[in-house]
Formats: sequence, C-alpha cells, structure tokens
Amino acid sequence: MDVPKRFPEPSTADGDRPRLRVGGFEPLTTVEWPGRLSAVVFLQGCPWKCRYCHNAELTPLTAAGVTPWSATVRLLEARRGFIDAVIFSGGEPTYQSQLPDALREVAAMGFAVALQTNGCDPQALQAALDTGVLSFVAMDAKAPFDDYELVTQIPSSGRPARASARIIIASGIAHELRTTYHPALLTHAHLRQIATELAELGARRWVVQLFRSEGCPVRWLRESVALPARIPPDLHEELAGIIEEFEVRGEE
Ligand code: SF4
Repeated sequence: MDVPKRFPEPSTADGDRPRLRVGGFEPLTTVEWPGRLSAVVFLQGCPWKCRYCHNAELTPLTAAGVTPWSATVRLLEARRGFIDAVIFSGGEPTYQSQLPDALREVAAMGFAVALQTNGCDPQALQAALDTGVLSFVAMDAKAPFDDYELVTQIPSSGRPARASARIIIASGIAHELRTTYHPALLTHAHLRQIATELAELGARRWVVQLFRSEGCPVRWLRESVALPARIPPDLHEELAGIIEEFEVRGEE
C-alpha cells in the first residue's frame, strides 16, 4: 500500500509538546468504551478512502481549524472530574508519528487511554502499544482481509490490517474488532468470512455496526435499496457461534 509521506516538521510551534493535528473533540461518550466516561480526540489524517466514511473532513493531514495539541490538553484538564478516560480516534490516529508521546501525556494526567485504529500501519500501532499506557484498542475489520479494497478503495489494504489485528490480539490487551455492515458493500458470506478470519486469529470480541445514513456523504449508500442493514436471527446465531463474543450495534 502506498502511504503518503507524513509531515516531517510540526505545523504549529508548541513548545516541547507532541505536535499533533487535532481535527475534532467530543467531550463525553459512554458508548465508545463500554463502562467508561470518555472524551474522544479525533486526529487529523487517514490514508484510506472508505466508501462510507463519516469523517471525510478528517482524512487530509492538514485542514482549516485544526487544533494544536496544547489546546486539546487544556480541554482535557477542564474535563477532569467529568470523564475518566480518553479515546484517540480519527481519521487514523496512528497516522501521526507523535501519537505515542500524546498517549503518555494523557496517561500521566491520570486518564485511562484507548485507541481506535483502522490498522493501516502495524509498526505505528506497535509503537502505540509499546507505550504501555493503553488499556483498550478498538480496530476496524472492514471486510475479509483479501477484500478490503471493496470498502477502503486501497489495493492490498487488508494486508497491514491483518498484521495489526495479529499484533493487538497477541498483545493481550482488551480489544474489540468492529465491522460496519452495509448490505450493498458486504454480503452475508463476507460476514461469515470475517468472523472466521478473526476467530482464527484469536480475536475475542467482534461487533457488527449496522450502517447509519446520517452523516454519510455518499448518496448511493444512503439511498441504497439494500437498506436497512440488519442481521437476521439465523445469521446472528451462526456468527455468534463462530467467535467468542459477538454483538450487533445499531439495531432498532
Ligand atoms: S479508515 Fe476511518 S477515517 Fe479513514 S477513510 Fe475509513 S472510515 Fe474514514
């Protein structure tokens, strides 16, 4: 996979702080990390072009309105007492090389720290895990690994994703693999294959998130006749029999 070059220099002078480009901030969520009151820091930049991307404005590494890391730390300081955890999401958080420093800084503030990644860069993921401060990692499982391009539009993108899934599972960290299901992009056979591949890698937990139209910029996906996305009871039972923990999110 061709990964565009990262910026070698910071765009914002900011003392000795990590020079992260923060594209968004959610002050509180209870769903992204079950059992935790979390803020979410959305980092700018992602090398993939998922057809249903709800965060397309975050995919370029630079964009108007990007917040310096120091300002984000001040926001987190102000959230003390309201949250106990911080999730780094994106975009793709491992796409910025100073992520490990930011993870350490937030952990030193006393917050539990989690990462949401697409697994596009196994080395950067390993560097994040090597900080030793992560308590939870959620990774996308976009499609069967050999069919990733169906969703990401990037040839061979399943190769680094498979390596990243292996790294997460081998690390022993609490984890969750997540698949967004749109019936015009993935078939039931694809879902069976994803479940089987993840189970073979030793994944403990897999969540299928049903596609939601709100926020999706692509009209043919929003208005597809294949919608609504749903998992019939017999398929649910079959998938639950393949992997240790299985959940469907977004059911009405
Ligand atoms: S990996 Fe995430 S941020 Fe990147 S294009 Fe796909 S959905 Fe968008």
